[in-house]
Amino acid sequence: MKTSTKRWIELDKKHCWHPFTPQTQWCSPDFEPLMLVGGKGVWLEDSEGRRYIDGNSSIWCNIHGHGHPAIIAAMKAQLDRVCQTSYLGYAHPLASELAARLCGFFPDGALNRVFFSDDGSTALEVAIKMERQFRIQTGQGPRQGFIAFDNCYHGDTMGAAALGGVSLYFDRYRAAGFRVTHVSSMDELQNLPQEVIDGAAAVVIEPIVQGVNHINVWPQGMLSQLRQWTEQRGIHLILDEVMTGYGRTGKMFACMNENVVPDFLCSAKGLTSGYTPMAATLIREEIYEAFLGDADRAFYYGHTFTAHQLGCATAMASLDVFQNERVLEAMPPKIALMRQLAEQACRTSDYLGAFRQAGMVMGIDLTRRDGSPWPVDWNMGTRACIAMRAHQLLTRPIVDTLVVMPPLCISEDEIRMMFDALVRGVEDACRAAEQLGC
Ligand SMILES: *Cc1c(COP(=O)(O)O)cnc(C)c1O
Repeated sequence: MKTSTKRWIELDKKHCWHPFTPQTQWCSPDFEPLMLVGGKGVWLEDSEGRRYIDGNSSIWCNIHGHGHPAIIAAMKAQLDRVCQTSYLGYAHPLASELAARLCGFFPDGALNRVFFSDDGSTALEVAIKMERQFRIQTGQGPRQGFIAFDNCYHGDTMGAAALGGVSLYFDRYRAAGFRVTHVSSMDELQNLPQEVIDGAAAVVIEPIVQGVNHINVWPQGMLSQLRQWTEQRGIHLILDEVMTGYGRTGKMFACMNENVVPDFLCSAKGLTSGYTPMAATLIREEIYEAFLGDADRAFYYGHTFTAHQLGCATAMASLDVFQNERVLEAMPPKIALMRQLAEQACRTSDYLGAFRQAGMVMGIDLTRRDGSPWPVDWNMGTRACIAMRAHQLLTRPIVDTLVVMPPLCISEDEIRMMFDALVRGVEDACRAAEQLGC
């Protein structure tokens, strides 16, 4: 190992604190974190000069690959103009253009307002706070309940965490939040007590596919059913498209798979193709109108970096790439190839069970030879992903579900290499575990 790599690992273990990470295990002497230093297309490079396919789009963000020349050029041009100006009291051309462009994805002004923020969690906070204030200002004050789904994930700030359904992450914080009722399905939703339904302001859902919940794909038609159900009861629909937005499921937004228009659409990760932090919450005009009139009706909320100039320039460039490279049009054969290779891998490998897919989002379950699950405390998902590194693939599991979510620009050859590496890593890790008995 190079001395520089050694030094960076030492400093990391001495001073850094990683997200969602048991630090004792991370800092143990035999764990060598990769130091990522570069990226081009779907490939990432570490400080030792090794290259890897970015199999989970750098935690579900990257859309067009790393170092895309058109995006880099737009960012560099913006750097020469200005990086950040206050959006509090001022406007700027890029935010105007970007907002109009995002609204343009929904015809007839169905979603006509954009509130910019910084990341997925804040995109949700915006929607939650707007929803609560909307009810107060439209004479429905007591209607403040939220309904969310079991094992949902909507981010980690307090408001977003209060919605969250994964108990390991959120149980400790939920009491600090607001009233949220969790359900597992449309059936359970429909059977909620009448007072919960009458007191509900909004239903929040990750449309088409829940990411953190082991890539759980909802039954086809569920989203449009949910839209109908909420509409009939005056309940708003907040869609968390933080992971699914910007092409990931094969449409620009996942809700377009079922021709659904929500009341709020929260987006972040892929908005800038992951190049800068940036989020956008899209809102229906009639919700916006409840904030008009006297100054005390305004939405008193915002972040310092709201509508960051460099972020807006990057988002515009990323949307240009969708058009110029006909990205969505190129996806169907890649989606089909991923399905075919996953079917083949699950059929031929002793250690792969079921898989779930929505566009270019996929989860594959690790199993033992007899098809039963591994003991959770063996951390086989993590071990398999670490073993994949030797075959030039990086991804991160959700417990024992392997996540396959490459940048949309991945080529068919690279998809084949990715699955090949995945299967080999799985075989290496699972055989070793069988031999050692853990
Ligand atoms: C990542 C994610 C979030 C949170 O976004 P951050 O940028 O990490 O705050 C919220 N919802 C979903 C569905 C996500 O995948």
